[in-house]
Amino acid sequence: MPHYARVIPDDPTDKELDYLIPDSWASKVHVGSRVKVPLRSREILATVVTLIDTASVPEPRSIIGLVSEQPIVSPALLALARWMSDYYGCSIETAIRSAMPQVIRRGEPSFKRQKVLTVERLPSEEEIASLSRRAPRQAEVLKVISTFPGPIRWRELQVRASTTDRTIQHLVDRGWLHASQETEERDPFGSEEFLPTRPLSLNDAQTAALRAVTASMDSRNSKPILLHGVTGSGKTEIYLQAILHGLQSGKGALVLVPEISLTPQTVERFKMRFGSESVAVLHSHLSGGERHDEWHRINSGRARIAIGARSAVFAPVQDLGLIVVDEEHENTYKQEETPRYQGRDLAVVRARIEKCAILLGSATPSVESYHNAKTGKYQLARLTSRVDDRQLPLIRIIDLRQESLKQKQVSPISNRLGIAIEARLARKEQTILFLNRRGFATSLVCNKCGYVCECPNCSVALTFHLGEKRLKCHLCGHAAVAPGKCPKCSDPSIKYSGYGTEKIEEVIRKLFPAATVSRMDADSMARKNAHRQTLAAFRAGKIDILVGTQMIAKGLDFPNVTLVGIINADIGLHLPDFRAGERTFQLLTQVAGRAGRGEMTGEVYVQSLTPFSPSIQFARHHDYEGFWEQEVEFRQRCEFPPFVHLILIQIRSEHQRRAEFSAETLHRRLEEQIEADTILHPAVPAPIERAKNYYRFQILARTRSVLRLSRDVRTVLENLTFPEDVFVTVDVDPYQLL
Ligand code: ADP
Ligand code: ZN
Repeated sequence: MPHYARVIPDDPTDKELDYLIPDSWASKVHVGSRVKVPLRSREILATVVTLIDTASVPEPRSIIGLVSEQPIVSPALLALARWMSDYYGCSIETAIRSAMPQVIRRGEPSFKRQKVLTVERLPSEEEIASLSRRAPRQAEVLKVISTFPGPIRWRELQVRASTTDRTIQHLVDRGWLHASQETEERDPFGSEEFLPTRPLSLNDAQTAALRAVTASMDSRNSKPILLHGVTGSGKTEIYLQAILHGLQSGKGALVLVPEISLTPQTVERFKMRFGSESVAVLHSHLSGGERHDEWHRINSGRARIAIGARSAVFAPVQDLGLIVVDEEHENTYKQEETPRYQGRDLAVVRARIEKCAILLGSATPSVESYHNAKTGKYQLARLTSRVDDRQLPLIRIIDLRQESLKQKQVSPISNRLGIAIEARLARKEQTILFLNRRGFATSLVCNKCGYVCECPNCSVALTFHLGEKRLKCHLCGHAAVAPGKCPKCSDPSIKYSGYGTEKIEEVIRKLFPAATVSRMDADSMARKNAHRQTLAAFRAGKIDILVGTQMIAKGLDFPNVTLVGIINADIGLHLPDFRAGERTFQLLTQVAGRAGRGEMTGEVYVQSLTPFSPSIQFARHHDYEGFWEQEVEFRQRCEFPPFVHLILIQIRSEHQRRAEFSAETLHRRLEEQIEADTILHPAVPAPIERAKNYYRFQILARTRSVLRLSRDVRTVLENLTFPEDVFVTVDVDPYQLL
């Protein structure tokens, strides 16, 4: 029996330390257990990573506490954390920290306990009569509780019988009632009912795809599968049936979705198929207690299916048979704070470690994943048509340059789009209008001197929000009153320019006063449940026109939507980011996919000032393959992923000079360290030079051996000291280059 445990303390020192296991816990401390240990003069929580017979120090101190008798991190998840630490260059402690929800790491709060009462002995009529004389209030409580068939919660009885704790306690003391503590699970879907659904009979393409997945699940050692299926081709049905296949041989499943709160329909479909009990949901809007309970339902094996966003990649599903990553191309899988991991990529690594199957699904796979499929690293499965051969929507491009020549007054809604909306209103069909920019006006500009109202903390223009009547910064949240005249030259001709969703809502209300219009963006959806309620109203046909940002682009399936208008396809297309074209193509395809999900064919109007850009043209023709080929050609020519890996190092400080100087020093050190196959770009100001009051500089490196470069960067950083107010972040495979 091993006598010592090697642990990683919850402490940034990132050391592995050995402790003695007290005899009384010999059988209770496992790899993955959380323990309490003394460290210097403190007591600290730690994770056990190995059990050993001999310690590396002469007289190790002893473990002094055990957080839970069950191990909390499985060996597979520990291996995943190690991979993460090597690849992303973060400390192992940080990696392990991500693998557990905070409530689990701390071992608190625990299950919600509550007192439950049952009738111990039913009183006879006489006893009730005699009790009524001596203690009328107790008799009353007995009468109330005897109308309940089963146990009743203490609190509930108290309310129903309008009585006090004391009266109930008397009845318990006298042996009429029995009180016990029960664990109550908090269920975030508590009050909802899910009507059961049965597996649909699949079409040929679905059958072939499902067979590929189940074969992979049974072989336990095969390639990841990329499922490229157009919107509405029935990918979700394949996920469901593949999971069922696993359940039949006792295997659990993990389903990752881009953003739970934006895809309530997906969760519903899983709960309807497998029952609410079998499905646990993990996401950021859960309370600590809810998260604790859902996590335990998964860890104990009571819930065999876990669904969640990015961080659910660490969900402790027992005997994992399949990981599904839905909409694998979505940026939300990338965590934008330390550790900056890519959830989809971690899922692929986890599948390799656990020897389970992994299915990546998308209508617009990422350039990287499709490249992997093309080069044989992944297996490709395709669904090329919609279920029941429903038509893909017809996409029409509106050249805004022509429109502005024709129209007297330029409106964000072109004549043709306006006519199309009117036709939908007449036919009682629904319309979605998409604009990926919130607020009313994107800037406030002086017509005389050209002054633009900028954020005092960031190098970006302020957006005017009509609802709050304020100028706001979308980077740092700074808010200010909009000036009536130019702050620089005092001219009153300062004007709003550019438009966001608020403006579109206003224009639409004016154009179609009889229509019911709703807006869905981060501003209008700030209230809890607002998102769900709006979607429910839209589904019920209570809203004619829904205006929104990318919130409405994802996974929504409304059969009565026959028109989608994309107000400005150019937003995001011309940013200095090598993924700008890919993102635009994906977004256009996803948004267009919201049209014509029912019996009627859908129509999409795309307004653009650059109608001939490849992203727009390929999206128009539903030509993923064509888009991918020209995109990958560009990536190869200009040396971008998937042909190299990027590492972006950002250096920021409130003092411009210090940031710049530190960036240059770091650059020099890196140059000495890196190998020949890495290209190191000079330290330059970031495209957004200032954000949240910080001056930002960056160093970009491209490499073919990312693990080594990641290690080299870490080594250099560990041996450098920066001024106290200089912060350095390292982003491996970055998604935000601005
Ligand atoms: P995707 O996930 O590819 O966008 P979905 O799985 O949401 O597509 O399928 C679109 C619609 O078609 C859903 O309403 C789904 O219930 C239905 N569907 C899927 N597969 C079948 C099938 N084999 N037969 C009938 N309807 C199906
Ligand atoms: Zn700002």
